[in-house]
Amino acid sequence: MTGSGFIKGMLLTLRHFIQTYLDDLRYGFKKYSPAVDNFNERQGTRAEGAFTVQYPEEKLAMPERFRFIPFLVVEDYDHPDRPGKDWCTSCGICAKVCPPQCIWIVRSNDPATGRPVPEPEAFFIDIDICMNCGFCAEYCPFDAIKMDHDYELASYDRTTNHIFDKPKLSKELKYWKTIAPTRAVAEAQARGGWDHKDAQKEARRGPKKAEEVAPTAPSAATREEVRARKAEADAPKPAPAPTAVAEAPKSASNTAEGAKPWTESEDEKEKRKAAALARKAARAAKRGE
Ligand code: SF4
Ligand code: SF4
Repeated sequence: MTGSGFIKGMLLTLRHFIQTYLDDLRYGFKKYSPAVDNFNERQGTRAEGAFTVQYPEEKLAMPERFRFIPFLVVEDYDHPDRPGKDWCTSCGICAKVCPPQCIWIVRSNDPATGRPVPEPEAFFIDIDICMNCGFCAEYCPFDAIKMDHDYELASYDRTTNHIFDKPKLSKELKYWKTIAPTRAVAEAQARGGWDHKDAQKEARRGPKKAEEVAPTAPSAATREEVRARKAEADAPKPAPAPTAVAEAPKSASNTAEGAKPWTESEDEKEKRKAAALARKAARAAKRGE
């Protein structure tokens, strides 16, 4: 019959309308009482009719796999051995795989030796550019970056406010366990424990000897020693006689005085350059260029 679909639709709407008020009666008008937290009751599986989430006072729980802006996992602040320690080793894989290239990482250096330290000194994500794809979290080999559930990020300033830095991005491991409990457990099982991979490796190696443990802050004496060594290395050296250089094996000259490749003599540099050019020419010849 023409129009029967329309009548069915209207009847369905009417049923929902009536059920909404019947549901109120079922809960004895306590359903919307501001005095009690009725959210679970109103949004429960037994609730019927039309209902509204009173956002922003009330929010629906996000599914575990919901993903928004990434965050960096750090050890719990009450961790006995590594409180607040970054899980990120600043390997840079997330920045490389990020499709819109919105991650910037600055790797830390040991102030005493100048050598790289596996933790980020700075970490930035431009949240206006991030497209929430989750690649960074998928590819991170240390489970150090995760997708957050926090979607309330609107602000009046789109410049500095939307470039999230390390303090803003860092969240404790316990937060990840709260928002994604089953995934956190699955990851811990795959990793072999709740601890970071590096912490597990250290535990397997056993306690370090005192002399192996790197000082967290270099002493003034250490800094002076490093400066003195650097000044010594940078000081101009008399050019050795060509025959002596030609005879002396490179490894011997490097190991004997602890010389570094960047402190080699001009002759040695020229020799290395000539060898590199010869190799390049050989490769080009092989390719038929
Ligand atoms: S891939 Fe993981 S460990 Fe590597 S820089 Fe990114 S967050 Fe850090
Ligand atoms: S979620 Fe995707 S777009 Fe956003 S930072 Fe990670 S890789 Fe980049």
